[in-house]
Amino acid sequence: MTLAVSHEILRLALRDPFRIARADHDAGHSVTTVIVELRDERHPDVVGVGEGYPDRFYGETVETMEAVMPLLLDAVGELEPTPDWLAAAGRRMAAAIAHHGGAKCAIDIALHDLVGKITGRPISDLLGLSEPIPPTDFTLGLDEPVVVAERARRARRFPALKIKLGGRSDLATLEAVRSVYDGPLRVDANTGWQPNDAVALLPDLERLGVELIEQPFPAHRLDQLRWLQERSALPIVADESAVTIEDLDGLVGVVAGVNVKLAKCGGVGPARLMLERARDLGFRRFLGCMEETSVAIAASAAVASLADWVDLDGNLLIAADPFDGLVLDDACRWVLSGEPGLGLTRRAD
Ligand SMILES: [Mg+2]
Repeated sequence: MTLAVSHEILRLALRDPFRIARADHDAGHSVTTVIVELRDERHPDVVGVGEGYPDRFYGETVETMEAVMPLLLDAVGELEPTPDWLAAAGRRMAAAIAHHGGAKCAIDIALHDLVGKITGRPISDLLGLSEPIPPTDFTLGLDEPVVVAERARRARRFPALKIKLGGRSDLATLEAVRSVYDGPLRVDANTGWQPNDAVALLPDLERLGVELIEQPFPAHRLDQLRWLQERSALPIVADESAVTIEDLDGLVGVVAGVNVKLAKCGGVGPARLMLERARDLGFRRFLGCMEETSVAIAASAAVASLADWVDLDGNLLIAADPFDGLVLDDACRWVLSGEPGLGLTRRAD
């Protein structure tokens, strides 16, 4: 065993309160994320940085990540600084233990950063992905319609907004946002709707310029998702129902789109495979994130050329991103630094 991992639990304040429809999501005013540092004894001066977001909805906590990460490191074995080895490491982690996407994500991102730094190559170069990426939208949490509209006004530089719904005043919220913002709206009910209410809302969603509907119903209710998709001209996008690549085949003919996130599927390598498989199966692809730092967002940006829609704004939702090096251009596209690995540095404070 030549690899060693250490980790740091970060509790990060959010710029604005961030609530969603699921009761298990307690983000509110701050979030917890885990930053890992990976070292290989043959390259003592190089540190690979990764991040995993422990999401209780998917069965993860800081404690489960602490228990699982050493097992994952055992499974990957001795480091070889090549793209083929990184892909094999992803397969070994998947085979070693099911679920635990956040723990796998932390190790997988750190392995990519470490191999990138050892070989002098940016992550996108290791992956062979360098095409331009779609601009990111910006997400607004559940709140009173007037509050959401004020946040939409402040976010008007973004070419699309993602609006969290599943609260008491969804239509009023969308009307209020539409009165201050002209671009497309993406709505996410986070499993919080009932089928009859959702179908009744469809004409208003189309009238208000909504371009997709994310996860209206519980994760296992594929029957309800199919029922709504059959009645909706707008694409229904599975998020909580689309955790890993294993879920994709079962969603064919159910929904038009899937939301891929590194923290759900296990990191950069698994996200790349899941996005490619989703493309081959004919899905529209949304690339999402959790409330994460630039570490997870930069890793996500490296595979964003495989997505149709991008929602990579986690580091913009937190008040003080601890990392430097990822830049949002005037068109709201993430620009990777071009430095080896993730190309990020930790801020001095
Ligand atoms: Mg979602």
